[in-house]
This record gives sequence, structure tokens and C-alpha cells, in this order.
Amino acid sequence: MKKLVEPNFYESVMQNFDKAAALTNHAKGLLDQIRECNSIYQMNFPVKFGNQYEVIEAYRIQHSHHRAPTKGGIRFSEHVSQEEVMALAALMTFKCALVDVPFGGAKGGVKINHKKYSVDQLEKITRRYTVELIRKGFIGPSVDVPAPDYGTGSREMAWILDTYRTFAKDEIDAVGCVTGKPVAQNGIRGRTEATGRGVYYGIRELLKQEDEMKAIGLTPGIAGKTMVIQGLGNVGSYTASISKEEGDAKIIGIAEYDGTIYNPDGINVQKLISYKKSNGKVSGFPGGKLLKGKDDWLSIKCDILVPAALESTIHIGNAKKVKAKIIAEAANGPVTAKAEELLLKKGIIILPDMYLNAGGVTVSYFEWLKNLSHMRFGRMDKRFNENTNLNLVNLVEKMTGKKVSKANKKLLTKGGDEIDLVRSGLEETMLNAFHNIREVKNRRKKVNDYRAAAFINAIDKVAGDYMMMGIFP
Ligand code: GLU
Repeated sequence: MKKLVEPNFYESVMQNFDKAAALTNHAKGLLDQIRECNSIYQMNFPVKFGNQYEVIEAYRIQHSHHRAPTKGGIRFSEHVSQEEVMALAALMTFKCALVDVPFGGAKGGVKINHKKYSVDQLEKITRRYTVELIRKGFIGPSVDVPAPDYGTGSREMAWILDTYRTFAKDEIDAVGCVTGKPVAQNGIRGRTEATGRGVYYGIRELLKQEDEMKAIGLTPGIAGKTMVIQGLGNVGSYTASISKEEGDAKIIGIAEYDGTIYNPDGINVQKLISYKKSNGKVSGFPGGKLLKGKDDWLSIKCDILVPAALESTIHIGNAKKVKAKIIAEAANGPVTAKAEELLLKKGIIILPDMYLNAGGVTVSYFEWLKNLSHMRFGRMDKRFNENTNLNLVNLVEKMTGKKVSKANKKLLTKGGDEIDLVRSGLEETMLNAFHNIREVKNRRKKVNDYRAAAFINAIDKVAGDYMMMGIFP
């Protein structure tokens, strides 16, 4: 029997790309250009802690310049390597293309274990990293716009903005140099929850498709479906809480580094999130049984398995244990290319990362637009819409002679706040992208899975841009 060789993360992404690229009609040269990373900046910079210096290894990689600026998060993790950041940058290109966000893909990585540094030390590292990016022209609202990723959040983005602004004090659009900022510092409402909310919209949409559900023996609809989530970071927490609160899904398992909380009757997600916040771990949580095995989370029988942590967590060594009907990739690259082959053979549906976790960059795009327009969404039209709606309700009351209750009047006349508009824009984006991908999957005979369909859809869009530039006629 042929021995299966596990590709690393970058090889996995490239194998998936090649598989899909072979199903397109684009010229080889064009596909090669789309495939490769355009600019790679590897840096080593010193940071002084007390009277000691530490040399930090870091990266910013721009995968594709077919659109500007390039866009993608910055990761703080001790596993950062050039190939990891290359893979993540490539995924950003295809992610942005899929959800029609007009950016090229990029990613940054700082090779540190963020948990081992104090807040002051993290601030020093972040600011120095930003200076390196400024020096080499790797950041700017029209050049390359970072955002949060694993190990970073709005706090780090605020430091990046502050550092950038110090050097670009006359640049009117400077605040658009980074997204995922705190709302009070030119951020946007709804960015923090965006990736998890997008994951929820994507899963909900798949579960609405009667033919797909019939094929895997599920009834349509997310309500009551069992879900297991790996990772209770930003993406995992919001996926769990929104799926439960808005979709009525049953969260039966949540895994963290110290074990999996399992409760077949459903976990109280909010309680577990607060427990983890105060204790730094999930073990000891009274609302479920603790499973200690490394792969226990993926062996739980459930409808939807959501890996929401790091890459390559489902590989050929453990893929056989999966008992779920759907794998929803909230993380980037959680399933290796070889594991995917095994899982697809078992009839499992995989919703791919580059589609499913695109909610983060989608709302980053809204934030960037807000920054460039120097105005909050809803400021111009909220009252106008409320007054128009009120006139309509008043007219209906007058014509029918019936009174609309105060509560209903409020509901019917409400204009959109920033958060309402962001959520509705995100929902629209995730649903459109889902149906674009599904259309490719259903139309193309040789395409049987969502990842290949998503890649084809994204490659076609990027190729279209290059052809419009006249570079590849
Ligand atoms: N780091 C996120 C991702 O992987 C967000 C990127 C962004 O908002 O630019 O998609």
C-alpha cells in the first residue's frame, strides 16, 4: 500500500491551489504569477528589556499585488516561520477575492510566545515591528494594512496605529493603516465578533441546502444541530455563542489546550467563556465532563465539527477518528490536504477556511472604508430612514384607522446604526460568497468539494484582474 506523506501547511495550500488551478483554463504563466508570493520581508530586530537585548524574528509577506492595498493579520506565535506566513498570506489573497473585498493578500508574523511577555514588552515589540514595516514601505492605508490574528487583538492594533501616525503625521488617511482597532480609536463596531459571526452565517447557509443535508442524512436548519468547537479564543468563542443564541445550535463539546469539555445536553457557553477568563483554562468547569486525550474533541459524534485554533490540527494521523458530518474550518488551514482526501471519501462536507473565516477581513474592509471616509456608517441616513418609515406607518394608520402599538412602531421605523449595517453587510457578503461557490461546485462536473470550488472562484477573479491590467492577455 502507498504510504501517505503529510504535507506541511504551505505545501497543503499549494497542493490545493494546484488541484483547482488544473481545472481552470488560465495560461500557465498567469497561474504561476497568481500562485507565488510577490514580496517577502524577513526581519530580525533587537528589543531591549532591562539591560538585555533580545533579537526578534519577524515577517511581513505580501502574496499578491493584483489589488492594492494588500491586507492580512499579524500573528504572534512561537510557531511562526516563513512558510507558515507564506501560506497564510496566500490564503488571504483567495479569501479577499471570494468575498469581493478589493485587496491583495498579505500576512505578518512575529516569532514569540506572547504569553511569556509582559504588556510593556509586547508594546515594545509591536512598536519596533511597526517601525521596521514603515522603513521598508510595508505598511500604509494604500500599501499594506495589517489586522489582528492569532495572539494579537485591538490593543496591538492601537499601538501600530499610534506608531504609524508618529511617522506619518500629515497623512490625512493615516488611521486606515491598520484595522481591528478599538472602536474609540477609529475602529468599527462589530469587528471583534466578525470572524465568528461570519462562521455562523456560513454554517447556517450550508444547513439550509436541502439537497446537501439529505446527502449526509441531516434535516435542514441549524436549530438543534450538535456542534463541537476546538479553541475558545476570539473566533471559537463568538462562533459558539452566536450559533447557540441566534441559531439555537447545541454546543456539546469545546476544546482548549488543557482538555475538552463535553456535555451531550449542551454546554452553557457564556459560563464556560467566563470560567476560562477567570481561570485561564477549561479544566475544572462544572458544566460538563473533562476529556483529557489530545484528539478527544475530534472523535466526538456530532453534526458539525469546528476547528477554530491553529493549522494542521486534523491530519492523516487522526482524520479517521472524525465522526462529524460537516467540518467547518473557522481556523486557517486546520485540515491538511491529505486528511481532506480521507474525509471527503467518507462523505464529510468541508466548508473551507478561505470562505468560512472571511468575516474578519470583510468587516476590516468596512473599517478601512469608514477610516477613508472619516465618517461613521449610518450617520447620514439613520434619521432620514427613520422619518421616512414613520411617515409610512402614520399613513397606514390613517388609511386603516388602526393604531400600531408603540413597540411595533419602534421596530418598524428603526434606522440602521453602525452595528446593524456592519452585521447586515457581513451577512450579505457571506451568503453571496456561499452561493457563488456552490454554483461553481454544482456547475463543474469534476468539482465535488467546496474547497476546490472556492479556489476556482477565487483564481478566476484574480486572473480577471491581471487580464484587465493587460499583463496577461
Ligand atoms: N487575520 C484575519 C484573517 O486571517 C483577518 C485579516 C484582516 O482583517 O485583514 O482573515
